[in-house]
Amino acid sequence: MNTSVVLFTADLRLHDHPPLRAALDGSRQVVPLFVRDPAVAAAHDAPNRQAFLADCLRDLDAGLRERGGRLVVRSGDVVEQVCKVVAEADADEVHLSADVSAYAQRREQRLRDALEADGRRLHVHETVTGAVAPGAVTPASSDHFAVFTPYFRQWSGERLRDAVAAPRVVRVPENVGSEEPPSRSAVPGVSPGLAEGGEAEGRRRLAAWLRSGIASYEDRHDDLAGDATSKLSPHLHFGTLSAVELVHRARRAGGAGAEAFVRQLAWRDFHRQVLAARPAAAHADYRTKHDRWRTGHAAEADIEAWREGRTGYPVVDAAMRQLRHEGWMHNRGRLLTASFLAKTLYVDWRSGARHFLDLLVDGDIANNQLNWQWMAGTGTDTRPNRVLNPVAQARRYDPDGAYVRRWVEELAEVEGPAVHEPWKLRGLDRAAVGDYPDPIVELSDGLARFKHARGRD
Ligand code: FAD
Repeated sequence: MNTSVVLFTADLRLHDHPPLRAALDGSRQVVPLFVRDPAVAAAHDAPNRQAFLADCLRDLDAGLRERGGRLVVRSGDVVEQVCKVVAEADADEVHLSADVSAYAQRREQRLRDALEADGRRLHVHETVTGAVAPGAVTPASSDHFAVFTPYFRQWSGERLRDAVAAPRVVRVPENVGSEEPPSRSAVPGVSPGLAEGGEAEGRRRLAAWLRSGIASYEDRHDDLAGDATSKLSPHLHFGTLSAVELVHRARRAGGAGAEAFVRQLAWRDFHRQVLAARPAAAHADYRTKHDRWRTGHAAEADIEAWREGRTGYPVVDAAMRQLRHEGWMHNRGRLLTASFLAKTLYVDWRSGARHFLDLLVDGDIANNQLNWQWMAGTGTDTRPNRVLNPVAQARRYDPDGAYVRRWVEELAEVEGPAVHEPWKLRGLDRAAVGDYPDPIVELSDGLARFKHARGRD
């Protein structure tokens, strides 16, 4: 066999890339292809992810060039572009990583139909974008797990494939043309504190995390000011790091921190297997409670205050401002801001999920939508009525107030935990908070009052 095409999607790396390995083993030449698909751009693209993607593509191209190859970049409908490249290279087969969204499932089917109609083959590889494939572990009575704990038990018992080494040499046919990979500097509206993308940066972060972060993960993962989580989520989202490799390396590191970290990676697979089985959960309630979410002017004003980080609850506002500044938010911040919108303000989780997807560099249909549903009580939480009180959360996870002071500049001069309840400040302290707003809702009556008002105001 002469030439294969590897279609890169959410797997923008050279280490532990089974589709690339299979293509290299079976062919003399390989076309590593990335298609900038306007259908993806229209539905999910946000400046922060576009910028991170640009870093990833440039880095992938550089990695391939070091091995004698290059990345081929095309723009347009993914199936049309793959078929064009297949024809130009006279390739026999295409390799692709399986993925879970409705779009990814449709893409796979369309590609298979188009290639088979032309006498070519599509090879789809599982466990490239996740560690355990959706459907690999299932309960007796369903095609997916709806509760995490039994899922995790089975997930932990699965034997993972070995990680695959990065190739030494990649030969790319010369006659296949390419666009210039995009550049981060050409993307407008990027968050000023956005992290750098690309496999080289991902591997650097991973090495640092295994060396000096993972051991204290169990104790420190909820410490808002400590910022002691891995920050590997964008690398997992774009596949610049492999989930399989992460699980292997964390298990080798061992200890309670590594165990807690692996458990979080299982949460990622858990949401992916829910979405693979129920693609509509990206926009429809997974388990509806027949909520009649608030609509109207007052609700719109509340959503706007939440987006802008001006709700008057400092820890909520700090987290929302971190999101805008970095394109990333601490998990504890995501939990408490989502609870505040869906449970306290009683606003449809889809509004919040949309805003997160507009800004998050790791914004991911499976993990964003299903975590939102979990917090809104329409998803897989076994306690759907839980509400996180932002003041109690702040006292517990930001005990000294350092996280709030870092992100809410109006409160930078307020010392200690008093920063969590600025409405209680008096005298000079009160004057120091300037135009920081009063709370937009009373915690004691928010949800009950809004529900009583039958969702409209
Ligand atoms: P770490 O704590 O270091 O965890 C390691 C990895 O485990 C993460 O990189 C991530 O891949 C995975 N992980 C951790 N927690 C979760 C979780 N609850 N669900 C699924 N995977 C998890 N994660 C995304 O990757 N994309 C999203 O769009 C996203 N949206 C979210 C929205 C809400 C409302 C909530 C509550 C959570 C969301 N999460 C999302 C999950 C989690 O907040 C992030 O994965 C985590 O904060 C990323 O930071 P980290 O890499 O430092 O995580």
